[in-house]
Amino acid sequence: MTTAKATRAAIYVRISQDRGGAGLGIARQEGDCRALCASKGWDVVDVYPDNDVSAYSGAPRPKWQELLEDIHQGLVDAVVCWHVDRLTSTPRELEDVIDLADKRGLELATVSGEIDLATPTGRMIARMLGAAARHEAEHKAERQQRQRRQAAESGRVAGGGKRSFGYEDDRITIRESEAEHVREAARRTLAGESLASICRDWKGRGIVTVLGIPWKPAGMRRMLASARISGRREHTPRSSWEGTRPLLGEIVSDAVWPGIISHEDSDRLRALLSDPTRRKRHGSGRTYLLSGILRCGKPTEEPEKACGWGMVGRPRSGVPRYVCPNTPGTDACGGTATNATRTDEHVRDMVLAAFDSPVFMKRLRESDEDGTELYEKVRADEEELEELASDFGARRISRKEWMVARAPIQERLELNRAKLAKVSSKAVLLGFVGSYDDMLARWERMNPSQQRAVISSAVRAVHVLPANPRKRWDPDRFVIDWIA
Ligand SMILES: [Zn+2]
Repeated sequence: MTTAKATRAAIYVRISQDRGGAGLGIARQEGDCRALCASKGWDVVDVYPDNDVSAYSGAPRPKWQELLEDIHQGLVDAVVCWHVDRLTSTPRELEDVIDLADKRGLELATVSGEIDLATPTGRMIARMLGAAARHEAEHKAERQQRQRRQAAESGRVAGGGKRSFGYEDDRITIRESEAEHVREAARRTLAGESLASICRDWKGRGIVTVLGIPWKPAGMRRMLASARISGRREHTPRSSWEGTRPLLGEIVSDAVWPGIISHEDSDRLRALLSDPTRRKRHGSGRTYLLSGILRCGKPTEEPEKACGWGMVGRPRSGVPRYVCPNTPGTDACGGTATNATRTDEHVRDMVLAAFDSPVFMKRLRESDEDGTELYEKVRADEEELEELASDFGARRISRKEWMVARAPIQERLELNRAKLAKVSSKAVLLGFVGSYDDMLARWERMNPSQQRAVISSAVRAVHVLPANPRKRWDPDRFVIDWIA
């Protein structure tokens, strides 16, 4: 044996936010570790600094990997760190270190206390220290979550980030110039207009976000679906995130700030905007106002039964038309077509003429369904569903019991939601109807999405009969299926 080589020590330092306030910066850790090495007579071969956001986030630690590699290569005899909780972030990682101590005689020294991994007692201490640190971090995460929830429940203002559209920097005072636009967007969305259409209109009018950029549909969707604009706080537990924050959180309290729109409108918007079947409409090219509303009325071989397929926009030689699609794999007949421009005008005239009639107005005003009552029914059912879910969550009922109890409520809920939507569209119409000429003037100023909302509020479908080859334009081909 030659003279004993000095122990080659690697210093591992790590900065993470869980000790941020304790003054344990990387420099301080390194200085303390170097002093420890000097007192032990160890040579410092290298310093491995990792900078991760949290000790327990499972974020990659490249320098730690490098250190393990160097230990395996036999370049390092000892590891020095400030505390066991700096060294490993999971019990499994600690076991890896203990294994290395076993197999390679790796020594471990920490500034906060002697740990001899060669002895069972030393290992036990290391494991306990690691477990304690982990417990502390988990407990801290839980505490933060609880604090966030408490803040949400007490309706306080959440800190950080930009102010919200519609509110001043204090997040409490309503900025009326913007609040007006929030109300407008809510109204138009509830009337069935697409978010893309509202964004286009706002862009033209120079209405921008708090960042000073034009509104996009995704941002508008979040704004309109937020409980915030109705003066309520919602809580979205981190555990419910799937990559991004879910659109809807759980409404936990009335907020300290006032609402811009009513709770009722907010709930309707939230239901509408979170509906996965909500159709996406894109505004490129010509908009076919009546696609989906027009139904192919060509008779089939079965008596009394028409094709019934929804007609779609499809130009021929540059002329816009609606056709029954001959899509392979469907039983659409592909046998009906009509000029789109003339059809749009014809259906518009039929609808406006109907609105102009006193009978229609009377029926509209004598709505047999009371919106408020319906709304309360919907809310009650939603609450019952939530209660059932929490009963199931707390294991007071079984999954099967939950499913069985849920089914009839959901059925009723869907029915009432559909009715509520109809009441909402009637409300839209009340603001639209007037004399034929007034309506026509208003119609011309509307975009296709708004026009479609008006038609859908009164018309369930328009059946298009096959063309009479002797007539160029035949209004009798169109049979309107009116709502109510
Ligand atoms: Zn057809």
